[in-house]
Amino acid sequence: MPITPFHFGPGAALKAAAPRHFSFTMFAFTNVVIDVEPLYYMVTGDWPIHRFAHTYLGATIVAAACIFAGRPICSWALRLWNSRLDEAQARWLAVETRIGMVPAATGAFAGGWSHVLLDSLMHPDMDPLAPFAKGNALLQAVMLGQLELFCVVTGALGVAVLGAMAWRRRK
Ligand SMILES: [Zn+2]
Repeated sequence: MPITPFHFGPGAALKAAAPRHFSFTMFAFTNVVIDVEPLYYMVTGDWPIHRFAHTYLGATIVAAACIFAGRPICSWALRLWNSRLDEAQARWLAVETRIGMVPAATGAFAGGWSHVLLDSLMHPDMDPLAPFAKGNALLQAVMLGQLELFCVVTGALGVAVLGAMAWRRRK
């Protein structure tokens, strides 16, 4: 995905589907960490820009590292979010700041694997199954517009459901 936040759409839908067992923050964090790779190679002008972190093996290792290194950072970000809310906002927008091991793991691994899957549909410089197999069989399996639409629609649905759930909790 040329813009990392497109990846967040399916994450919002997963969060709406399993709010207690899935950490959206960890999902987003893992996606951002994986996209440090192409950003770095883009800045240094060194092609290909999608390398180990954009393989299923690499994303698994990045996700595992994110569970341990990223969990405190994500918890801190959630505490920061809560601290910015006034009393009225806090009644429905405040979030749980503790991230359990299960939601951290489902968020991080879903973030890593979905990142590679979605990116492999559009980036010709990826070998998602490396080092076990070369090539990218899913390249252009769907059109870029459809892929982006999928991310936007899943994101909008997820946000709508989460918003409705938060609104009901408020009363
Ligand atoms: Zn990427």
